Amino acid sequence: LFISFEGIDGAGKSTHIQAFAAELAKKYPKQEIVLTREPGGTALGEKLREILLHHPMHLETEALLMFAARREHLATVIEPALAAGKIVISDRFTDASFAYQGGGRGLDLAKLYELEVWVQMRLSQDGAGKRYVLQPDLTFLFDLPSQTAESRRSAARDPDKFEQLNTDFFEKVRLEYLRRAQDDATRFHLIDASKSKEVIWKILQEAISNI
Ligand code: C5P
Repeated sequence: LFISFEGIDGAGKSTHIQAFAAELAKKYPKQEIVLTREPGGTALGEKLREILLHHPMHLETEALLMFAARREHLATVIEPALAAGKIVISDRFTDASFAYQGGGRGLDLAKLYELEVWVQMRLSQDGAGKRYVLQPDLTFLFDLPSQTAESRRSAARDPDKFEQLNTDFFEKVRLEYLRRAQDDATRFHLIDASKSKEVIWKILQEAISNI
């Protein structure tokens, strides 16, 4: 089972992902759970994350590095774990590339679809040899107005280069997330992140009981 958490900066997904993983581990003590993140998740990926978050670069370079980190992440962490029957929970995955590099920064979505196919296309193992694009089975999208997220972010120290961007940028990121959620309503579980922590936690607990 592959689960991702998504949302604009300040939506609160990183707080909840920890509690979510801990609760899953409590409920299924024999089940191995891998908690990981993007960009990052591998030694190389964490180096790329450092570069991505702090060095200015051409938008296409940024998208390519995000997908390079993802390729490594899939090959060395995510896919071996899934093959071994583990539950993988990732703080961001490809939806973030569409939302940030596409929606937010304006990279042609067609290019992102090409990279997505390049990095995530697989052949089914059932003998039929059908092609499919590997995606999380379940994606929690923490959604809230970018204005609200901005006021939450302003409390954060040491913002990375993406967090210094303005509310307009984050509204575009948010809209692309919502567009993708609408396109794939089975995979996405939309969470109203303007609700209190307690309410969100209840929603996540309910989701766990459905897993
Ligand atoms: O989720 P987290 O805060 O760890 O992400 C680090 C930063 O990378 C965030 O500011 C996020 O906006 C940015 N990011 C991005 N494009 C991605 C993934 C993350 O701009 N594809």
